[in-house]
Amino acid sequence: MADLELRGIQKVYGGGFTAIPQLDLDIADGELVVLVGPSGCGKSTLLRMIAGLESITAGEIRIDGAVVNTVEPAERDIAMVFQNYALYPHMSVRQNLEYGLKNRKTPRDEIARRVDEAARILEIEPLLDRKPRQLSGGQRQRVAMGRAIVRHPKVFLFDEPLSNLDAKLRGQMRVEIRRLQRRLGTTSVYVTHDQLEAMTLADKLVVMNKGQIEQVGKPMELYSRPASTFVANFIGSPPMNLIPRAELDKAVGGRLEAILDKRAGIVGIRPDSLLLERRAESDLVLDGVAELVEPVGGECHFYVSIEGVQQTLTAVTPMRDDLQDGTAMKLYLPLDHLHLFDAQTSLRID
Ligand code: ATP
Repeated sequence: MADLELRGIQKVYGGGFTAIPQLDLDIADGELVVLVGPSGCGKSTLLRMIAGLESITAGEIRIDGAVVNTVEPAERDIAMVFQNYALYPHMSVRQNLEYGLKNRKTPRDEIARRVDEAARILEIEPLLDRKPRQLSGGQRQRVAMGRAIVRHPKVFLFDEPLSNLDAKLRGQMRVEIRRLQRRLGTTSVYVTHDQLEAMTLADKLVVMNKGQIEQVGKPMELYSRPASTFVANFIGSPPMNLIPRAELDKAVGGRLEAILDKRAGIVGIRPDSLLLERRAESDLVLDGVAELVEPVGGECHFYVSIEGVQQTLTAVTPMRDDLQDGTAMKLYLPLDHLHLFDAQTSLRID
């Protein structure tokens, strides 16, 4: 059990590149925090600094209040799960699980107890005598997690652990990781660039951009009230439509002037806020043409061009099969579904 504090963290790499200018983050005991952001935003750098695999240029990392900046990785009581599982190919699953504990001179019966416990939790008991090459990708990933679990660490760090798996298995493993983390109650930091993984796993979601935190909060808070156009665009799939106010105003016959905050230069609309049926008199009405209709299982994605609006808008609706490419259509937009952003700062208004 442990809490983790990152205070004034800075990382300047050897060549003089500043990967993280200054960052603060609190991770509570037992919490699963997900770091998400585009490639190169500094997620792995931050994780590696917590693990002790990368030096910290300035700032402090504290585990349970104790500064660990100069503590060796092996002494930090942290276990890391990577995307390439790094199992020892010549050892059996059991030996792979035992390895770290033997190195730490854990008593033999204690090792056996912990390995059995981890194997039971992960349901890999029938695989203990196999070699890694005799396992599927998902099974290997489970063994990699087993190696972290047997150590009973204070903190788990996950660096894109599922990115080598196919979509279906990723979904399953995601649920397993969530369940496992809840059950063990181990403080965890999880890095991914997959926003769906981030949304479903996180107690607390951290969206990073260029080495800085754009927003921290519960996944649904970030989804419902994104603090910037960056977060609005990053969280949610398909992404939010972000439209210059003047273009949208023209498309809705000048109605925005009377309705919107003067500062709102960019209007954000979630694809599922664009409706095919009118709900209220006050709904904004957009005349468009469906450029492309994509049936996606239970729902339909429409890519709609609107006169006066440069970009094609995305709308997500329940399944329809009466609309084809090229169909003229009306979209209705409830006023309380608008997200407003300042055009200069890109920050949310209200
Ligand atoms: P990805 O999702 O692609 O793994 P990331 O968010 O994990 O990306 P990092 O690997 O932390 O990003 O890299 C952050 C920035 O630091 C990038 O611009 C990267 O090029 C740079 N960087 C990473 N390692 C080094 C290094 N050893 N020396 C110099 N720059 C580095």
